[in-house]
This record gives sequence, C-alpha cells and structure tokens, in this order.
Amino acid sequence: MLKVNHLSVHYGGMQALSGVSLQVAEGEIVSIVGSNGAGKSTLINAISGMRNLTSGTVEFQGKDITAVPAHERVGLGIAQVPEGRRLFPLMTVKDNLLLGSTIPEAKKHRRETLEEIYQLLPRLKERENQIAKTLSGGEQQMVAIGRALMSRPKLLMFDEPSLGLSPLLVKQLFQLIRQISKRGITIMLVEQNVKQTLQIVDRSYVLENGSISLEGPGTDLLNNEHVKKAFLGM
Ligand code: ATP
Repeated sequence: MLKVNHLSVHYGGMQALSGVSLQVAEGEIVSIVGSNGAGKSTLINAISGMRNLTSGTVEFQGKDITAVPAHERVGLGIAQVPEGRRLFPLMTVKDNLLLGSTIPEAKKHRRETLEEIYQLLPRLKERENQIAKTLSGGEQQMVAIGRALMSRPKLLMFDEPSLGLSPLLVKQLFQLIRQISKRGITIMLVEQNVKQTLQIVDRSYVLENGSISLEGPGTDLLNNEHVKKAFLGM
C-alpha cells in the first residue's frame, strides 16, 4: 500500500532523514520506533505531504505521490493523527470531528461515518457538545483519532499517540488501534514507547539518527539485543 524509497529530508544544513526506505502492506500495523529526535515525526510528515523531501519518493497504492500536496493525499486515503492532538480547543467535540470530513468524498458520507465513530468511541457521543479543551487528555486523543477517521482513510498514521497518557490509557489506546485495524484500515504507528508498541504491531522499523537501523516482526525486535540495550533498558 505504501512504499517509501530512499527518502532524505534536511532542515537547512541539518540532515534529519537519510535514505529511508520502507514498505507497508494493506492491512498491516507497522510501527516506526526510535528515541527523541530520531526523525520519526519528520518521516510521518513527509509521507502525509507536510514536509518537503530533499530526495526520494513516496508511493501510495502503486502511484508516485511525491509531488501530490498534503490536502490531496487526504483525498487518496492518507490521514494522520498529529503529535499533540492539535484539536481546535474552543470548538465542540462534534465540530472538531466534522472538520475531518471536509474533502468531498468524506463529506458525502459524513453522517454515517460520524455514527460509526460514535459506535467505536461512545464517549465521544456522550460528549459531542462539550468544548474540546475541557476534555481529559485521553478523551482529546480520542477526538483526534475520530477526526482522522472522519476522512475515511485507507492508511492511518499516528504520531506518538501515547504521549502524556497514563499506563491504563495507553493500554486502551493500543487496543483501540487494533480495533481500527480490524475495520480494514492500514496503520502506521510512530512511537517512543518501544516495548508496548512492539507488543502490538505486526512489523516495525527502528529509526536511529535519521536512518533505519533494524526491521522485523515486533516480537523478534523485542528479543533483539540492540533493541533491548538501546530502548528497553535491559
Ligand atoms: P520527537 O519524538 O522529539 O518528535 P522525532 O523522532 O519525531 O522526535 P523529529 O521531530 O523528526 O524527530 O526531528 C528530527 C531532527 O530534526 C531533530 O534533530 C530535530 O531537532 C530536527 N528538527 C525537527 N523539526 C525541525 C525544524 N522545523 N527545523 C529544524 N530542525 C528540526
């Protein structure tokens, strides 16, 4: 479904990503794990079209989309749950959700999609008229996820969704990501929470200093000596 080929990104003279290649097949849950500053957000933003590439290409469903602007990538089926949620704090839960369905194809189905999201996340239905900034952190994360689902994505990318959540909420979040995957949506998950992420994903890439250092099934990486030392404190 997604193919990233030899992707490099610079911020001025600083190289944030260098020659990153990866693939995600339809239906997979794939993560990119790595520590602070490894380049994870840069990578996800390059895939969603919000960051210009220095070189490399991005293919989605067999088409080269490197030159396609971000808003058109949403129309192709790529959505992102951004780091820090980025809700509109003074708008209601429902209005935040509806903002996710501004592209024509999603707009046509917005009522039925909203109902599907309320079924998946009943808390959002209960709080649909509440102002977003008054929600708890976990609830705000649900709104950010619901908003991304409103565009009816084929590929849903999460940037550090567990950041700032309690261990119990992180567990629930990862269960929710699996539920979303069961609905036929391909998942890319960028995380610093290496242990729990590797436990739930099909496959993962390890990003270190802007390059992929390792790749494999989550369970294999959990047993990898380098991963244990570098990320699991073992
Ligand atoms: P984090 O978890 O902190 O978000 P990350 O793995 O997502 O880390 P990036 O945010 O992609 O990493 O950053 C990769 C590198 O690029 C870091 O060294 C960061 O300081 C630098 N960087 C990120 N954004 C910019 C920017 N807008 N201008 C200059 N340098 C940047």
